[in-house]
Amino acid sequence: MHVVVTGAAGFLGRALTGALLADGETVTALDRRLYVGLATAGLDVITADLLDRDDGIRQALASADTVFHLAGCPGVRDRGAAVAWARHRDNVLATARVLALVPRRTPLVVTSSSSVYGGAPGAPGRPSVEDDPVRPLGGYARSKVAVEELCARRAAAGGNVVVARPFTVAGEGQRPDMALASWLAAARTDRPLRVLGSLDRTRDVTDVRDVVRVLRDLAAGGTPGTVNVGTGVGRPLRDLVAAVGAALDIDVRTVIVPAERVEPADTLADTRRLRALLGYVPRTDLLDLVASQAAASQAAAPPRQPVLVT
Ligand code: NAD
Repeated sequence: MHVVVTGAAGFLGRALTGALLADGETVTALDRRLYVGLATAGLDVITADLLDRDDGIRQALASADTVFHLAGCPGVRDRGAAVAWARHRDNVLATARVLALVPRRTPLVVTSSSSVYGGAPGAPGRPSVEDDPVRPLGGYARSKVAVEELCARRAAAGGNVVVARPFTVAGEGQRPDMALASWLAAARTDRPLRVLGSLDRTRDVTDVRDVVRVLRDLAAGGTPGTVNVGTGVGRPLRDLVAAVGAALDIDVRTVIVPAERVEPADTLADTRRLRALLGYVPRTDLLDLVASQAAASQAAAPPRQPVLVT
């Protein structure tokens, strides 16, 4: 099977591409950043922007058996005109281009985000359901709502498109701007962990390896529609902080800083649709997940002391 992964050099894209290659799939890894991985027979790398008039991109997307569109401009907190434009370009315009090039019958999975919900609605502890009205709190979430609208039009015209709404994803290769990655880096250099708002805030955290499995199974299932990708369990930030301390075997210090409006207090996925589609829901072992992310980032980090080569 020939699979195209857009955003292949990113956090989710690298994990997905690696898993597909490990299972012997033929993969086109497409990203404007260079995808660096083990050279294997099934790997084709295209280093180009999705908005480039590039024949390689056109051909790959037109001929793939399955496409995972993960390329985008993530991150809820960045502000400013440049970021607003980057979100529109890399989330909305890039998705429009992918939709234009992938044939309607080709299974296509597009990553939106749980940020379209603007946090868990109503009573405390109530999870977000796919049919809830969207409530984007900032520019990132609004760009994802626009992405979803493009996909909905495609589905209404008979397109085979699944919109996945991942909640917080963690694990090896996590983007450095995300909480766990930045906390691990801070703890290693004896700096306090910056916690937004309060240690009581909660996040639905899924291991990137489970997200990869879910995305693959959603594509194979071929049921168009929108689906949450989460565990259905809200983790207080204090548990994530404790997991960082346990993973590094140190006492960590925290500093609470005001949360921005775009940061919902709590996120929680309603997982009934995911279970109905796949027959399972990911379960995250937080201590194991943070320990594996810590080990991977330790291995990837440059040594703190200069290495003398004689
Ligand atoms: P990432 O930034 O690590 O990866 C995105 C990749 O897309 C980057 O390598 C970037 O170079 C590439 N890209 C962006 N615009 C491009 C373009 N125009 N042409 C070619 N390549 C382009 O992000 P990630 O964390 O891996 O997230 C992947 C997707 O999942 C994004 O759409 C993100 O919004 C969504 N998502 C991620 C999370 C999470 O917890 N990481 C949660 C919810 C949703």
